[in-house]
Order: sequence, then C-alpha cells, then structure tokens
Amino acid sequence: MNQLQAKQILKKHFGYDKFRPLQEEIIQAILEKKDCLVLMPTGGGKSITFQIPAVLLNGITIVISPLISLMKDQVESLKAVGISAAFLNSSLNAAEQLAIENKAINGKIKLLYISPEKLVSEDFSVLLNKLEISLFAIDEAHCISQWGHDFRPEYTDLNKIKKIYPNIPIIALTATADKITARDIIKQLELQNPQNFISSFDRPNLSLNVVPGQNRKQKILKFIKERPKQSGIIYCLSRKSTEDLASMLRKEGIKAQHYHAGMDSAKRSKVQENFIKDKTPIICATIAFGMGIDKSNVRWVIHYNMPKNIENYYQEIGRAGRDGLKSDTMMFYSLQDVIVYRRFINNAPNNSEVELAKLQRIQEFAEAQTCRRKILLSYFGQHLEHDCENCDVCKNPPKHFNGTIIAQKALSAIYRLKENVGMIMLINVLRGAGIKELYEKGYQNIKTFGAGKDISFADWQQYILQLLNQGFIEIAYDQNHVIKITDAGNDVLFNNKKVQLVNIVDLKERQKEQIKKEKPVSKTQQIKNELFERLRELRKLIADSEGVPPYVVFNDATLIAMAEKKPTSHNELADISGVGEFKNNKYGSTFVAEILKFLTEKSNEGIPFKGSTYIVSYQMFNEGLEVEEIAKKRKLSVSTIFGHLTKNYINGQDIDYKRLISDYELNLIYKAIEEKGLEEGIKPIFEHLEEKISFDKIRFGITFWGKNS
Ligand code: ADP
Ligand code: ZN
Repeated sequence: MNQLQAKQILKKHFGYDKFRPLQEEIIQAILEKKDCLVLMPTGGGKSITFQIPAVLLNGITIVISPLISLMKDQVESLKAVGISAAFLNSSLNAAEQLAIENKAINGKIKLLYISPEKLVSEDFSVLLNKLEISLFAIDEAHCISQWGHDFRPEYTDLNKIKKIYPNIPIIALTATADKITARDIIKQLELQNPQNFISSFDRPNLSLNVVPGQNRKQKILKFIKERPKQSGIIYCLSRKSTEDLASMLRKEGIKAQHYHAGMDSAKRSKVQENFIKDKTPIICATIAFGMGIDKSNVRWVIHYNMPKNIENYYQEIGRAGRDGLKSDTMMFYSLQDVIVYRRFINNAPNNSEVELAKLQRIQEFAEAQTCRRKILLSYFGQHLEHDCENCDVCKNPPKHFNGTIIAQKALSAIYRLKENVGMIMLINVLRGAGIKELYEKGYQNIKTFGAGKDISFADWQQYILQLLNQGFIEIAYDQNHVIKITDAGNDVLFNNKKVQLVNIVDLKERQKEQIKKEKPVSKTQQIKNELFERLRELRKLIADSEGVPPYVVFNDATLIAMAEKKPTSHNELADISGVGEFKNNKYGSTFVAEILKFLTEKSNEGIPFKGSTYIVSYQMFNEGLEVEEIAKKRKLSVSTIFGHLTKNYINGQDIDYKRLISDYELNLIYKAIEEKGLEEGIKPIFEHLEEKISFDKIRFGITFWGKNS
C-alpha cells in the first residue's frame, strides 16, 4: 500500500492529476493507521482524504455525518465515480436498510455513511460486529464540541468509538478553524497521538467586497444581471426580506425563491432541491439555508445584511466556489445593521460580552481600508504575506486627502447639538435639511446648520463612519445611539489637529469596479462560453434523467476545461481534470459527440478550429454519409476524406471501420504486410494485392493493423 496507489485512485476514480495541499500527507497517515484531525476550509478537498484510504484499505469505512442531505450527496458522488457507497438513515424503509446491511456484511460496500445516533444504536452495534472496519471518518467533527458553532448533542456519544475499537484509526474533519474547538474534538473523541493537519484557510478564488448599504435592491439587480445563469445565495436577516427580495427578483424576470425556517419542511426541501439541481439558480434565505449543501457551483454569495460575526460570514461566503473557480461575494454594510445587532445582544440574557466583541470585529472588517483578506485570515490566526489583490480595497486602494475642515464641520455640529443626536439628524443639520423634527427642536438656529450642504447625504455617512473608525467620535449605543466626541475629536475641534480622510470619489470608483461590466470578451472566449452552455444543458439532461444534482455528473470546473480544450475522443477527455475512468466510460461518448457536433456547426459557420476539417468529415461520416458523399458535399477528393477519417482514427476517435473496409479486405492487407513488410511503403503491398484494393483502403488498413496488432 503506498502513495503511488493513492495517486492512481485519484486519477482513476476522481480524474485528478495532483493532490491538493495536505491531502497526500493525510492519506499517508491514515494508511499508517494513525488518528488524524483535519482542519480545512470548505471546498478544500476533505472528502478525498478518507475516501481514498477507504478504497485502498481492506474492509469498510464508516463515515459519520450529521445531515441526511449531505450523506445522500456524498454517496451519489461516490457512486458516480465508481466507488461502492451507501447510507443508512431514517429516510430508508426496513427492506432497504436490510439490503444495505447485507451488502456491507458481504464486503460489497467500501464506505457506509451513517448518522451519529445510528452509530450508537443497539441494532447497529450488532451489524458493526459483523463488519471488518478499516476506518472511522467523522465529518463536521466540530459538532461534538460545545465550543463549536454547531453543537449537536448526538455527537457526544461518539466518544464510545475509541473505547470499543481502540485499534481502528479515526479521522475527524471540520472546516472550523478555531483552536479551542480543535482541542476539544481531540479530547472528546479520545484520539490517540493524533496527527493534526491544519491547512490554510485562505480561499483565494473568492473575491471579497463590502458595499455601502444604500440602494441595495438596485445594486443586487445590477450584480445579478451582470452574471446571467449563475447560481447564488442572498442571505438576509429577516424572513420577510427573503420573501420581498425573491419576489422583486421574479418581477424582474429572474428565477429566484425564498427559504427560511418559517416554511414547512416539505416546502423547504423542495426549494433546496431546486437549487441543488440547478432549477432555481438564486435563493434568498435566512442563515438557516446552506448547511448540508455540497453544491459545488455556487458562483456568488451576497449578504443583504452584515452577518453578526466573522465566523458566520466566512462560513456563508464559503458556500461559493467550492469547485475552485472564481466566485464573487458582496456584503452590504450599514451602521443600522450594527445598531440592530446591538439591541439583540443587549436584550439577550447571557454571553453578551463575547458577542459584542465579535460584532466589533466584523464591523472593523466591514469598515477596513486595508486588504480585507488579511484581516479575515488574521482573525483565524493565519497570516497572509501579501495583499490579496482580490478584495475591493486591494483593487482600489484608498487615497487620502486633508479632511480637517470636513471633520471640523461635523465635530462642531455634534458639539453644538450637545452630543445629543444620532447620525441621521446630524447629517440633516449639516445639510440644512427642512425636516419638521429638526425645526421643532430649533436646530436650524445652530451655527453649523447647512455648513455641509455641498456634500451629499450618502457621502456624509461615509465621512462620519471614517471619523468613527479613526476614533474621533464614538456612538453611545446605550443612549439611543447618539454621537459623542472623543478626546482625539476634541483635539481636532479645539487644537487644530489634522485629519486624513479617504477620498469618497475613490470609494465610489471602488464600488463601480466591483460591479463593472466584464471586459469585452474575445471571440475565442465567446465560443468557449457558448460550448460551456451547451455542455451545461447536456449535463442537466443527464442529471435529471438520473435524478442526481448536475455537479455530480461533472462539476463546473470540468465543463469549463472541456469547453476550453474541446476534447474529441475518449483519450483526450481522460486528460481533463475531473474525468476519471468510470465517468469517461459512462458519459464520455455523449460529451464527445456534443463537442464534435458543436465544432462541426462552428466550422460550417466559417469559424475554423485546429483540426476542424478532419472533424467535419468525421462528423458527417458519423451522421451516416459515405466517403464518396462526403467528398462530393465538401468538394474534396475521396482520398482526402479517407485521409481525414484515418487521422481521426489515429487520434483515438471511434470509427465504424466496417463502413470503410471489409474484414475480408483487412485480412488480405494483413497477409500482404506479413509477406512484404512495410519498409518499402505502400506500393509493394498495393502490387502484391494485384491493385484490387485502393491505396486509401490500404493506408487505413495499415493504420488499423498498427493500432490493433
Ligand atoms: P470539503 O469537504 O473540504 O468542503 P470537498 O471534498 O467537497 O471539500 O472538495 C471540494 C471540491 O474540490 C470537490 O469538487 C472535489 O472534487 C474537488 N477536489 C478535491 N480534491 C481535488 C484535487 N486533488 N484536485 C482537484 N479537485 C479536487
Ligand atoms: Zn485584499
């Protein structure tokens, strides 16, 4: 048992050439029967680390997974690559369960997925005793810890595994990064000298963008219209906004559905299934949505409201781009959201200190003027060497200007308003707005009334946020959110201390940048996109007929690679990442046929490809035309067409050769080759056969002999 075999499985079943970071080391450790703890972000590739050992080791691997939908998804994915897997849970009836148990006992299953409560049930322990267990894999292992964000009491029973099976290795996997939880997992599961594998939590394929919370709906519409056909999730704080948003999108002709905990479970399952199967591309949801979804082609995530902490934020954006392809995230931010959360937290009985601190951290993230990814990773205790170049701040770094006068205007107004108003009233005073409440309070009489007319309301909001970030003012959350001046602010007001502000024009540029039109696409790119769409449709047809999600057939990354490389034979298809032997055998011909059809169409439209002339002849031949007919249609010689088909045959494309040459003729050619050899070329063979078989056929016959003998 060695690494080479692991690599072969990776290629043969999963169709990948290389391991991702840590995968190989983890597999090695399991093969050496060591306990392992794996901390890897969502989409990092955790599953393969226990699935490959499961295939290599004798016996059966028991996988513990918290959610029925996750089990189903993983089992379908494994079956799709030719690995025998099954799950046992409450969704099966007694007969189905029995059938699976029998298969397991007879060694017909390599991976068996079960729920934690099943594992410790009495009837299951009877079954376990009859099995040769190679490995226990515990997915979502943080569920065992009270410190984790998703504690599940059923998981605590898993501490029995080590007691009953001290010699069988356990691998515990989670995407939760924090150290306390990790230590707790080891302790609870009683892992023995575990090897710890902690991968980088960076997800460089996810763009990070934070956008001011004004005009959210318009911004969302624009964002979606610039990403047609892409699948995405919009997270909202309230159930009502999920419904409103989804119906707004539908009115705009965009397929969207809402999802929240107030819906009955049948309705929720339906919405989730439609999403997974690419029937509804967009879901507006409360945070209840997404747990237990393995959908790899979620292309974007929008936060309609700021999440309440960075853990939640990271977990939710993590649902985008599992396939490693570029994906976008956009979070709306407004102080109003912060205020709502503060109210929640302050009204809750316990833990408010920690939660307030966490809220503070995400607020800092949202208001950051430095690389956001650095901030994010440092939150998880990891350091990013360089700025990421894939967040809104990096793409449009802030430029500062001397904002002392602006700051003084604001501070002076706050001072004259006796530090007794909130942000909205402050801005209205600065802008000299004619608002009833303002006049009732007599604020029109203070000296700074209207001193900031030249700056828009939205821009003032931004400046005031900046003053807040830089510590010149603070918000008294306990006093109706009124704004107070800090010592540093007093220095500005009374001692002429200078203030640097970030140019808002730049900030606006930054937002434009985020939602700008893609660069004009090149012709090559256009054709690639067109083929990608065709392959997507084909994938959907196949997936629907098999009742599995489309990404189980092939994921987006694989389809894009196909659209790019345009493989026209099984051999070429095998080189595409994500096409293993099993899927190649099962779907290869269908996909190759579609690509050939596409290339032929393009060629007929006058858009040539490398090798397109061969492909056109080949395609016509496949459609039933004989060599002579093709020659006539294409105004080429019969010889040329024969040459094309021979070339295709050499390239590994299937050819119904009997339509080109009979077995009788082939036999004669074989015999002639034996007698005359090939050293002197075709001519001696032609003559040996008394010129009865044409040069073209002989050439093909020799090729055939070359490949098959
Ligand atoms: P996780 O469980 O960590 O969230 P998965 O195991 O679901 O991640 O893997 C995420 C995606 O990455 C899947 O589509 C998987 O097929 C793909 N993947 C895993 N390992 C590799 C690899 N070595 N090369 C290419 N793709 C991989
Ligand atoms: Zn950055």
